[in-house]
Amino acid sequence: MDILAKLPNPVSSELRFPFLDLQAEYATMKTDIWSAVDQVLDSQRFIMGPQVSQLETEISALVGCKFAVACASGSDALLLSLMALEIGDGDEVITTPFTFVATAGSISRLKARPVFVDIDPATYNLNAKQLESAITNRTKAIIPVHLFGLPAAMEPISQIAHVHGIPIIEDAAQSIGARYSDSQGQTRSVGNIGDFGCFSFFPSKNLGGSGDGGLITTNNPAYAERLAVLRDHGSRKKYEYDLLGMNSRLDSLQAAILLVKLKHLNTFTKARQRNAERYRKLFAQADLNRWVGLPHVPTGAEHVYNQYVIRAEERDQLRNHLRASGIPAEIYYPFPLHLQPAFEYLNHRAGAFPQAEVACRHVLALPIFPCMTEEQQKMVAVTDFFQQKG
Ligand SMILES: *Cc1c(COP(=O)(O)O)cnc(C)c1O
Repeated sequence: MDILAKLPNPVSSELRFPFLDLQAEYATMKTDIWSAVDQVLDSQRFIMGPQVSQLETEISALVGCKFAVACASGSDALLLSLMALEIGDGDEVITTPFTFVATAGSISRLKARPVFVDIDPATYNLNAKQLESAITNRTKAIIPVHLFGLPAAMEPISQIAHVHGIPIIEDAAQSIGARYSDSQGQTRSVGNIGDFGCFSFFPSKNLGGSGDGGLITTNNPAYAERLAVLRDHGSRKKYEYDLLGMNSRLDSLQAAILLVKLKHLNTFTKARQRNAERYRKLFAQADLNRWVGLPHVPTGAEHVYNQYVIRAEERDQLRNHLRASGIPAEIYYPFPLHLQPAFEYLNHRAGAFPQAEVACRHVLALPIFPCMTEEQQKMVAVTDFFQQKG
């Protein structure tokens, strides 16, 4: 089935502002970034310079983990974590079909089998109630994704994983800084709940670099050591290779830029949360709540809004209407992974994971970038689309 042929037609029209205004963010820290870059260029230490270990130290402190290992991308962070667990041919790894391709792709790349569990439609995250029945004696890891910036239901997921002795790799690519409190009132940052926390510095993530980058957090010294070796060709001593590794280092230049941006992360996260609150009020005032489902944040979870995702049955008409009025809106994700050609070999049919499939038809991401103004948000929320229908 050629699902790509069904991609909704984008309406082309001049946008009144971008979906994600990275230029506005850059303007607030341009001088600092230039001087950080200048320092690296002066030193000419482009590979594993001191900025890389400093970034590892600062992010492990932010997440609350003992160790952090920087690498070339969020995708590699997932791959390296699976490699550190020696996952391969014949193994199964449980994850969600409603996520970015890299989550399941990293599993398949190692010849292990992604085993999907449907999502909870209220949070779009892996449905912990369906987790246990997906576990077999071949299950070697579980990868919950903290999608859009909202922590997955880590308490029930961790309980089940613990009973079966299965390690957890958190896909925290979209959720740096998000916190999760369990029923005992213990609060932890994502990336510090499972055995590994995988982060991405892709430019559109909440801590975005000037190119690709990633990082893994862990509290286990043996895992940390193995990750550091695996990202550098598997070598502990120069030209001696104990493990089959890869070249997945983070550039010193990226680390230097990320160190500058990290200083602003908390402010920008708060701005995203303020914008989410503004949307909630604007939607309520315009009486649009009966047409659209706003993001649900369960008790104990903190949302950092990498994406602000609403749902509407008439999603495609709404998107077209917004686009025709010059308002950007994007679909994350238009298709679930189990129906993608790349995963056809898993032999899933439409209907296998119904909540993920419905979400793909109904979700719409509205702009929520930190520098967004209230005027811009009003342009989005007070659309006449629903009034016409009302
Ligand atoms: C962005 C992302 C990744 C991959 O990160 P890259 O740095 O782009 O390789 C993995 N999982 C999720 C959920 C993501 O959003």
